[in-house]
Amino acid sequence: MDIIIGSHVGYKQDDQLLGSVKEALKYGCNTFMFYTGAPQNTNRKEIDPGLTKKAHELMRQNNIDSNNVVVHAPYIINLANPKNTDFGIRFLKEEIKRVETLGFNKIVLHPGSHVGIGIEEGLKNIIFCLNQIITKDTKVEILLETMAGKGTELGINFNELKTIIDNINYQDKIKVCLDTCHLNDAGYNLENFDNILKEFDQTIGIEKISCIHINDSKNVMGSHKDRHENIGLGKIGFENLINVIYHDKLKGIPKILETPYIPLEDNDKVKIYPPYKQEIEMIRSKKMNENLICDIRNYYK
Ligand code: FE
Ligand code: FE
Ligand code: ZN
Repeated sequence: MDIIIGSHVGYKQDDQLLGSVKEALKYGCNTFMFYTGAPQNTNRKEIDPGLTKKAHELMRQNNIDSNNVVVHAPYIINLANPKNTDFGIRFLKEEIKRVETLGFNKIVLHPGSHVGIGIEEGLKNIIFCLNQIITKDTKVEILLETMAGKGTELGINFNELKTIIDNINYQDKIKVCLDTCHLNDAGYNLENFDNILKEFDQTIGIEKISCIHINDSKNVMGSHKDRHENIGLGKIGFENLINVIYHDKLKGIPKILETPYIPLEDNDKVKIYPPYKQEIEMIRSKKMNENLICDIRNYYK
């Protein structure tokens, strides 16, 4: 079976999901992830059914399985902060409806930041909110992302995620999204990914892994920084990331790149360009491209 690999793509007002699919195909993706609007605000336009239908046709023609497509919840939602509860619940509910309308069934969520009220209280708020959001009729699964531990982030180790999951009423709707950069920055050693998986399996259960964000990290293990790096150019390294992507126990799981865009000077202006086409080629060949950044620049020149 082919690996299921994609990247973060845009979602724009004019062509909506159809534009996202076209972008994913340009990079050679067989899945993708997107925000249904700007991640830092709540302006959401109505979904055009015609564009959604065309997008799904294009996906079918190109063997993109809608079960592997992932939506990312906006990061302004913070379910750990009691001042944010009502807004967070309402907006995440609406967002889940949009995911359904667009024909998908996975939404990735940052668990939240406790902003000073403490880990235990923060986790309690997250659990309270998720139990308001997830009902027996919920069709979309919510994937809690493992976080780097920047500021007061929660979900920075498997025990915190387990605490949340254990207290959710409808547990089949709650899953996990691993992020390799976040794992590294939180202090997990990607050189021994088998150990990480073993710990995950013993704490939460490997069947809960529903998506993996594949990113290298600009910083060393345990730095709690959360700055993504291009594949093979950071502190995790190419071999360790390939080991995650091709891991036997994670075969059917979608892998999504969220690596940084590359700056390129164009008539005195600096523009940034997506690295995903070249990174995916490198991943498929399982061979580090030492000229990755040059190749990306030449491609867009
Ligand atoms: Fe994320
Ligand atoms: Fe991520
Ligand atoms: Zn990140």
